[in-house]
Amino acid sequence: MRFDVCTLFPDMFTSYLDDSILKRAQDEGLLEVHFHNIRDYSEEKHGKVDDTPYGGGAGMLMTPQPLYDCITAVKKLNKGPVIYMSPRGKKLSHTRAKRYARRNDSLILLCGRYEGIDERICDLLVDEELSIGDYVLTGGELAAMVVIDAISRFIPGVLGDENSAEEDSFGRRLGGKKEYPHYTKPAVFKGLEVPEVLRSGHHAEIEKWRKGKLR
Ligand code: SAH
Repeated sequence: MRFDVCTLFPDMFTSYLDDSILKRAQDEGLLEVHFHNIRDYSEEKHGKVDDTPYGGGAGMLMTPQPLYDCITAVKKLNKGPVIYMSPRGKKLSHTRAKRYARRNDSLILLCGRYEGIDERICDLLVDEELSIGDYVLTGGELAAMVVIDAISRFIPGVLGDENSAEEDSFGRRLGGKKEYPHYTKPAVFKGLEVPEVLRSGHHAEIEKWRKGKLR
């Protein structure tokens, strides 16, 4: 699956994407993430990308020209929908992340900054708005990273062959519920013992115990 991210801060993504599971997914060709710096498209002096809002109010807004040119250029490389990270968007969930992974080979993610973007960009180029929760971040970059991570877990092969996102919390195997507690070695830690049943080797009993602990 391919993601193209339009952002003023492409460097924010690298340390996260260049490690662990998402790094391996990229090395194996299962995941591709490209960055496009909106500032590079500014026709203003010094790469200006923001201005004061009409009607007054605090803060600055991202101006339409650099956004328009950046997204238009990216649309030539990526035929997927343009998704604007925004607190007013539909909320990201297990189901929504899975749906994106199933239905799309590629997505364009747009990250806002300041007070957000000029509404005409939403009218002209944005297909969907997506929120990662009911709170406000300083920018869309973290939100885009959350979206890439959550969707990537549903790309076949990303979690390894024997693992499936459906076996984790919210997944089908747990009936949409949240996972039971896990324990590893040692059997006793700071006086706390691993539940006997998990050490018993009785698979049916273990299954029953785990089922009872779902939330
Ligand atoms: N003035 C806006 C907030 C702007 S925050 C408002 O009141 O709704 C700046 C940018 O951060 C936004 O343009 C958006 O891209 C991103 N952002 C902030 N909170 C977000 C959230 N919960 N989900 C997704 N993106 C978010």
